[in-house]
Amino acid sequence: MNSKVKFLDNNSTTPIDPRVLDAMLPFLQDNFANPSSTHHFGQSINEKVKQAREQIADFINADSNELIFTSGATEASNIAIKGVAESYSNKGKHIITVSTEHKAVLDTCKDLKRKGFEVTFLSVLQSGLIDLAELQKAIRPDTILVSVMYVNNETGVIQPIKEIATIAHDMGALFMTDATQAVGKLEIDVNDLGIDLLCFSGHKMYAPKGIGALYVRNKTKLTSQIHGGGHEQGLRSGTLNVPGIIALSKACELANQEMTQNQNTISELRDRLEAELLKLPNTSLNSVSQNRIYNTANICFKGQDANVLIGRMKNIAISNGSACSSAVVEPSHVLKAMGLSDDDAFASLRFSLGKFNTIEDVETVIQKIKELTQPNFNYA
Ligand SMILES: *Cc1c(COP(=O)(O)O)cnc(C)c1O
Repeated sequence: MNSKVKFLDNNSTTPIDPRVLDAMLPFLQDNFANPSSTHHFGQSINEKVKQAREQIADFINADSNELIFTSGATEASNIAIKGVAESYSNKGKHIITVSTEHKAVLDTCKDLKRKGFEVTFLSVLQSGLIDLAELQKAIRPDTILVSVMYVNNETGVIQPIKEIATIAHDMGALFMTDATQAVGKLEIDVNDLGIDLLCFSGHKMYAPKGIGALYVRNKTKLTSQIHGGGHEQGLRSGTLNVPGIIALSKACELANQEMTQNQNTISELRDRLEAELLKLPNTSLNSVSQNRIYNTANICFKGQDANVLIGRMKNIAISNGSACSSAVVEPSHVLKAMGLSDDDAFASLRFSLGKFNTIEDVETVIQKIKELTQPNFNYA
């Protein structure tokens, strides 16, 4: 990585942990066999994939036969949501999700809407949390799926997943969560939380881009969306991304060992950054301090233009919201759903920290933001 860049955009992607790179490199070099091949070379690689699958499944307290490897969370969400819709349409055609979901879920649900499904997009409170009473009112006997993200990528808001799963199950619906910003940061037990489908992605947890996974609880029926050689129990045909799978398992192993330590250091840096920035006039925190992941701060700098600020910070990487929609200049749908005006949404910056950030990164960013937003403010 360019060590000069202060990278506070870890919710968009993370650098690869050097230990993850070391683990995967042999599988880009000598250990290149196709794990589906019957020869000994192929079978030796298949054995490594098996071990990796067990390691990853174990990390979320799942069985290894409940894990499907994908290219990332977007593909996993598509396989899950479309697979449920097609498979359970006899029971009903109603799906519930939330207006602040990632586009991977939102746009997949919108596609199903065009195909004759009914989709309820729950609103959120000013805090960014859903109102469980609104969910109770919206859910019906023909609801087949409730999909609510675990941790929001823009604000860090943590939804009450366990309570939501219970509400879904009480009505006989499946519960899915996009846990891309939670896996690796929080301990996750799919059984304790009552999760039927869960997706996550390697490149948000120090593994490379192009690998992700979908957890599918046993007996959940998904109609296949990707046809071919029948890999991954027929749900995701295509030769397995072995180096990616090895990398993801190493990333899970490291997260498992170092989660508490990472949480302590990252939250300390985030809290320092947030406290200093919120001392400035005309600033406010988007979302609440409770129920929020420890690495994210989304702050409104009233009267500013986030894009202009980002453009003026040459060696600092921060975000004005979701990178996935950055091709289009429109206010963040997440902040809008929380009740912010267009102007305030455009004035908001997302700071997302990771385990490689240092106190120097944070001090540099604080200093730069002060200079840019408060040229006349005496902060001596
Ligand atoms: C990054 C992200 C995604 C998309 O993941 P990809 O692996 O890049 O497809 C989905 N949901 C959330 C919450 C994310 O942060």
